[in-house]
Amino acid sequence: MKVLWAPWRIEYILGEKEEGCVFCKADDPGAELTLYRGGTTLVLMNKFPYNNGHLLVAPRRHVAGLDALSSAEMTELLQAVERSVAALKAAIRPDGFNIGLNLGRVAGAGIEEHLHFHVVPRWFGDTNALAVIDDVRVIPQHLMETCALLRPHFARQVPAPVRSRPRPGAPGGKRSASQTATPRRS
Ligand SMILES: [Zn+2]
Repeated sequence: MKVLWAPWRIEYILGEKEEGCVFCKADDPGAELTLYRGGTTLVLMNKFPYNNGHLLVAPRRHVAGLDALSSAEMTELLQAVERSVAALKAAIRPDGFNIGLNLGRVAGAGIEEHLHFHVVPRWFGDTNALAVIDDVRVIPQHLMETCALLRPHFARQVPAPVRSRPRPGAPGGKRSASQTATPRRS
């Protein structure tokens, strides 16, 4: 795999790490970047993506290893990976995907305490095209736009756990696109 050049990740690498577990916090019904909460599984946008539409798929339980999952959790986790691929295909039409699991910090896990799959959409030429996006400030906007595009695809079968109103202190309140996106009926 060609390594993507994702300069905005420097914010994550050099920045202060968030308190608490990102995945456990994403299980909050008001979590802004959470696209799906199933019985045992979560799907969220990666705040520090390697590529546009980079999703994280995790069990809701705070466990580190695959061996800690029940077979029901394992099944739902893989179904959520499949569902994430389907949603990304429908919403932003990638040419392919990198899907993977980093177990342990030595393998590149940023948060090794809470198991998670990475689902990274890929486009032909993305290793070159991304080099143009070197303004880290535009990334949060891209994130919210992609989130709004994806949300209806996760809402199709199960009501999405979207917050109904902006949380106090949320910047702008100009994110109505993600809140008013109409779930598509199939
Ligand atoms: Zn956790």
